[in-house]
Amino acid sequence: MAIERTFSIIKPDATERNLTGAVNAVIEKAGLRIVAQKRIRMTRGQAETFYAVHKARPFFGELVEFMTSGPVVVQVLEGEGAILKYRDVMGATDPSKAAEGTIRKLYAKSIGENSVHGSDAPETAVVEIAQFFAGNEIVG
Ligand code: UDP
Repeated sequence: MAIERTFSIIKPDATERNLTGAVNAVIEKAGLRIVAQKRIRMTRGQAETFYAVHKARPFFGELVEFMTSGPVVVQVLEGEGAILKYRDVMGATDPSKAAEGTIRKLYAKSIGENSVHGSDAPETAVVEIAQFFAGNEIVG
């Protein structure tokens, strides 16, 4: 399998509970390398752009509120099949359906406040990484 890069966000519910290191430990244990990372406060505009695909969904407003409610940690993860691997490591969107040992099973509070984001495909990974990182901020 090819070496890929995926985009990750440690969401406000996790930063609020000081879980950045705990989430990173699960990521690194799974064999993914954190090749870029920064803690930011997302603006409303950034959150609306990032989740534009969900604009028509009933939870969109709440999601934007949540993602701008506190600091997030944006990351680029690298490794063999990183996109699917990180989706596995994250677990299902709804933590009550997430498998044992996944980040969401361990730490998520609800289907909305679910601790992490990870890109769902190579095309979205490229777009999402470019929204938050310049090329020279990623050190593989
Ligand atoms: N979300 C929500 N309510 C829902 C479904 C999703 O608040 O019923 C939020 C949740 O934070 C989720 C994000 O919207 O992570 C994006 O949803 P998606 O279906 O893309 O899930 P993901 O790819 O994050 O697992």
